[in-house]
Amino acid sequence: MRLSSELQSQTINKYVISQVLDKTKKTKWRNKFNEHDLVIESWANGVWCKQVGLISYADLATYLKQESQMKAEKLSVVKTEDKFVVTSYQGADKTYFVEFKNASGWRCNCLRYRCWRRRLHEEMPKLLQHFNGKVFCHHILAVYNRYSKSSK
Ligand SMILES: [Zn+2]
Repeated sequence: MRLSSELQSQTINKYVISQVLDKTKKTKWRNKFNEHDLVIESWANGVWCKQVGLISYADLATYLKQESQMKAEKLSVVKTEDKFVVTSYQGADKTYFVEFKNASGWRCNCLRYRCWRRRLHEEMPKLLQHFNGKVFCHHILAVYNRYSKSSK
C-alpha cells in the first residue's frame, strides 16, 4: 500500500531511516551517500531502502520507541483537573494536551499522534503490531512515565 505523504514524513522520513540504519550497524551506504540521497518505500514486509535493502518493521519500531522515550525524558508535565499539559520537544513555549479516556486510552493533540492514530492501522499495520497495537507519542510517554508507574 502506498503511504500518505503525511505518514511518510511522520514515520519513515530520511532522517529516521538513516538513524535506524546507524543503530542497526548498517553504515556502508554512508561511504557513497548521505541521508538526503536515501530512497525509501514502505513494503508489506518492511521498509525498503534503495541504497541498503530491507529494514524490518521490528527495527523501525524499536527506534521510534527509543526516540520517543528519549524525547519524553526532556519534557515537563503539568497535571490539571482533567488533562496533562506537556511541553513541546521544540521548546517550552509550545504545549500539547494529553488526556486519558477509558474508552480510547491515552490521547494527545500533537501532529504525530493524530497522524498515527488516523493512518497506522491502514497504511502500516505491521508497524502498529510492533507497537502492540497502541499509538503513542513522546508527550504521552512523558505523562505515562511520571503518573502511571507505581514502581521502578
Ligand atoms: Zn503528542
